[in-house]
Amino acid sequence: MFKVVALVVVSTVFFGMGMCYQLFKFYKSELPSIAKMELDPPNLVTRIFSADSVLLAELYTERRIPVSLDQLPDNLKSALLSVEDRKFYSHWGIDLWGITRAFVVNQVSGKIVQGGSTITQQLARELFLNREKTYTRKIREAILSWEIERTYTKDEILERYFNQIYFGSGAWGIGEAAQTYFSKKVGELDLAECSLLAGLPNAPSRNSPIISQENALERRNWVLTCMEETGAISAAVADSVKKLPVKIKPRSNRGWIAPYFVEYVKSLLLKDYSEEDLFRSGLQVYTTLNVRMQKAAEKNIAEYLQTIESGQLRSFSHRTRRQIIGADSLSAAEMAQTEYLQAALIALEPKTGYIRAMVGGRNFWESKFNRAVQALRQPGSAFKPFVYTAAIDNGIPACQVVEDSPISIDQADGTVWRPSNYTGDFRGAVTMRSGMVSSINLVAIKTLMTVGAETVAAYARRMGITTRIPPVESIAVGSADVYPIELVAAYTVFPNLGVRVEPLAITEIRDQQGSLLHSFQTSREEVLSPQTTYIVLSMMRDVVDYGTGIGSRALGFTLPAGGKTGTTNNYTDAWFVGYTPDLTCGVWVGFDQPQRIINQGTGSVLALPIWANFMKEALQGTETHEFPDAPDGLTSRLVCKSSGLLSTQFCPPESVYTEIFKVGTEPSDYEECYVHKPSIYSH
Ligand SMILES: [Zn+2]
Repeated sequence: MFKVVALVVVSTVFFGMGMCYQLFKFYKSELPSIAKMELDPPNLVTRIFSADSVLLAELYTERRIPVSLDQLPDNLKSALLSVEDRKFYSHWGIDLWGITRAFVVNQVSGKIVQGGSTITQQLARELFLNREKTYTRKIREAILSWEIERTYTKDEILERYFNQIYFGSGAWGIGEAAQTYFSKKVGELDLAECSLLAGLPNAPSRNSPIISQENALERRNWVLTCMEETGAISAAVADSVKKLPVKIKPRSNRGWIAPYFVEYVKSLLLKDYSEEDLFRSGLQVYTTLNVRMQKAAEKNIAEYLQTIESGQLRSFSHRTRRQIIGADSLSAAEMAQTEYLQAALIALEPKTGYIRAMVGGRNFWESKFNRAVQALRQPGSAFKPFVYTAAIDNGIPACQVVEDSPISIDQADGTVWRPSNYTGDFRGAVTMRSGMVSSINLVAIKTLMTVGAETVAAYARRMGITTRIPPVESIAVGSADVYPIELVAAYTVFPNLGVRVEPLAITEIRDQQGSLLHSFQTSREEVLSPQTTYIVLSMMRDVVDYGTGIGSRALGFTLPAGGKTGTTNNYTDAWFVGYTPDLTCGVWVGFDQPQRIINQGTGSVLALPIWANFMKEALQGTETHEFPDAPDGLTSRLVCKSSGLLSTQFCPPESVYTEIFKVGTEPSDYEECYVHKPSIYSH
């Protein structure tokens, strides 16, 4: 009996050992070789090209600025060890106590503040190319960590870690990170900077000071707490450094062409690719940008904003860009907004939605906030085309007479709104067409009240405005915030006779061998009838030929075009959004913190000249087209402006014009002008 038991025990033990060995062999198979630690991984460059095949930018990590351990400030080493791996010099690759402690801390704080992996484990993880989180993988990492510990000294491991690990924003290795965030050599980093950088490997994107100053501050101060706990710094020092704001001075990559556009493309790519793929896997990204048009956009914005600041138009009472940018170091907050006057421009090809030019601000390296895409601003009168589109689509003819007269509107907050016109006067009975052409606020507001604010908001949404548009009267004059890119895209509906296109920036993504990974097509949607849009198009063409956009003609812009000015309350935002059959473009001018730009600084004065000069230069030498012919279902009549009815021999010639109607909305034969009648006293 004893013999049998012994036999079972012995065979079980041997079998168990065999199993363990087999398991070990299984997990050890497909392990990356630690010899890779001696080699830099391949450094492939992701390249972004314009539509005309100009290299706009290269995304890569300069692999890398190697740093030896003795070059690193003590504060940096102790900061990293305090927050990531306190037992680094005593464990054998894995720290079971550390894993437990991390688990408890994370449970208590309700979020992941400690990773639990040792520095050796994190380094082992870097050697794997993919990042799947499985138990097999965890065990392989542990085996690899143990091998690394057997092969290298602790100092060698730490040095390799500092040179290998990802610190966010395309920076692999501490030398690169110090340059990326502070434009400094590693040896020059102070305690605040060391603790900030040591906090990054844990969640490099979330805690990056370029992405979130708040997260970076919180993480940095946590690292300082850890350093205090391990005795690396005194409580007094920790407290004083915690009070410092996060200051960064990102290295600028001034080789980029169209940097706001490149950053926009990068943000689109990051929806499908990880930062690591983007910076390391050598993608070739083909975009829609036209470099010649982009240069024209940048030049015209730069020149005209200097003109505005010079006080040539009207006295300019703000500090100019030149007066402000004297400071050598910009904080993260200043990177987002500037104190000086800003502008944005976006130009789309209406047929394809291709983004041909994008300017998000005056200087990307001073402020990366992309106003063309990210700024929420009131469109002012540039919203009026939505009002008139809703009216025309609901069967109101463009010659409908609306009374331009004062009005009082009770608002939800109990106040009374008494809107006025920019000219300060009222013109009595005018047509909706004149209301559009001369940008008469009261005509837009009363038209909106006829069709309903809810209806107008619905048309704006249908045409692609995604921001909230409250159903109140003031939206008629543009009180609801919009993104410039959405406003411009909505305007493509007019030259396209009812078809809206989505802005498109990327056409193709290829891998380093040139094989196609993704291609992107124009997204087109018919959102309005061709009849309605043809009529509104004709009204907006009148804006450019006879109305608030006529200044473009004086500047020598002669192509057929439609558009609309925008000016907000107190002259804080100036817009012109307009189009030819080949290009739709919007220009915005204003301060990041809304304030009056100059007195009487309307869209015609501040934005239209940029638009006109840009359009002229952008389309110069290109094949241009005519607007589409009138679709079926329209008719025309000679009408009188004073009544909106059929003109008679008694109407003065300057009041008579040809109006376009949807069939069925034209005046009937006996609806003649009643304003101009034969005088019984005339001889
Ligand atoms: Zn008349």
